[in-house]
Amino acid sequence: MKNNLYPTNERSYLSSKKHKGIAVCPECHLVFQNGKWAKTKLPDKEYYYHMCPACKRIKDGYFGGILNIKTNLLETKKEEIMNLIKNKESQAQVSNPLRRVGKIEEINKDEMVVYTTFEHLATSIGKALKSAYKGNLEIQYRENEKSARIYWTK
Ligand SMILES: [Zn+2]
Repeated sequence: MKNNLYPTNERSYLSSKKHKGIAVCPECHLVFQNGKWAKTKLPDKEYYYHMCPACKRIKDGYFGGILNIKTNLLETKKEEIMNLIKNKESQAQVSNPLRRVGKIEEINKDEMVVYTTFEHLATSIGKALKSAYKGNLEIQYRENEKSARIYWTK
């Protein structure tokens, strides 16, 4: 089963049963075929449009991972931290293009919140922040591990 590559909640959000043919996301142009969404060229065969789970989650504001970053490092190393987030997102997309940063909210100069489509990416950004800058990382899984709230403070 190809779909076993994905954690359970990502798999269920693929809703593969609905897709009989080839689908293309009208927002990000990922292609759904052979049971998964992938970054690939548009198919030669007939396809229909269907929003991918990542775009749907972003549109609905239904995020699997919420990472709260609270540190005065944001005053001096914000660009570096933003780059780390971007790098983690690019890495995550190699294994699953549905793993995305949906939005970043700046609360104030010491605090921001990163929303990711699925919990995996928020968790891996949190771990990367901790390994780069130390500090304290707390991961709370919710709804039977279908979402996670992560706090990194330093
Ligand atoms: Zn999409």
